[in-house]
Amino acid sequence: MNRNLLSIDDLSRDDIERILHRARSFAEVSGREIKKVPTLRGRTVINLFYEASTRTSSSFELAAKRLSADLVNIKSAGSSVDKGESLKDTVQTLSAYDPAAIVIRSPHAGAANLVARWTTASVINAGDGKHEHPTQALLDLYTLFRRRGSLDGMKVWIVGDVLHSRVARSNILAFTRMGCEVTLCGPPTLMPREIEALDCEVRYTLDGLEQADVVYALRMQHERMTGSYVPSLREYAAQYQIDSRRLSPHQLLMHPGPVNRGVELSSEVIDSPQALIVEQVESGVVVRMAVLYELLAGGPGRAAAGAPSHAGAETEPQPA
Ligand code: ASP
Repeated sequence: MNRNLLSIDDLSRDDIERILHRARSFAEVSGREIKKVPTLRGRTVINLFYEASTRTSSSFELAAKRLSADLVNIKSAGSSVDKGESLKDTVQTLSAYDPAAIVIRSPHAGAANLVARWTTASVINAGDGKHEHPTQALLDLYTLFRRRGSLDGMKVWIVGDVLHSRVARSNILAFTRMGCEVTLCGPPTLMPREIEALDCEVRYTLDGLEQADVVYALRMQHERMTGSYVPSLREYAAQYQIDSRRLSPHQLLMHPGPVNRGVELSSEVIDSPQALIVEQVESGVVVRMAVLYELLAGGPGRAAAGAPSHAGAETEPQPA
């Protein structure tokens, strides 16, 4: 596997499967009272977040702490970024701490790739504009893998604002790599041109939704919209909202969060037993532990000093 995780395209199917299995071994650690292993003791992880985040930043933080890494959290608000420091200068400054990994979220597509050029640390893309969000895709795969075992042949419908969604892009790549059949559905104005090239089908109405095993709803990403893409949210909800009339009992429902209740999903489906939304959040910690492990301690020649030769899941937790 690569030194960095910038895109799902960096991962082969074997890499993905190894990460999912590793995440499962970390789930055992997360079930313990003391949820810590010494794998990354003495190594530094920097979380550099230039955009709002609840789930991704908290789960990367927990993942690094549960692996006993030293963690530095930097949010653009309140840092020298506010004083106009450039991304390059910020990364070069932080590199002086000799971090093992930099986790970067940015509103700009391609930011993680740039950071990877400016540091010798492993770089993990935690979302770059509307480009990619690879760890979200991995935690979604893991959530389904835990539920269903094999993902091969699973029919997944991704519904909503595909155009502005980095989650959609990473998930299309990830689901197809694992043998799922992907259908995208949304208004034509919110569908990227020639997206079919990614080996998925495109539909503009929910007709046929009953064929899906998994319905994956996306948020309307107002923060990335420059004009008006739908006549009104009411109109959008009337045509594309997943509600209890449209969701069949055999289907699983996913959403990356945060959810706009009453827009892409109705309240009753969010709180239904078919919804995996809370499980997706839970999966975030163990999958990000597995990614940090793979990049920093897992590959050939990368064993961390004093780290066990496996995930450390069977190791007795030691005081950090
Ligand atoms: N949390 C996801 C992201 O950062 C999805 C969203 O914001 O709608 O892309």
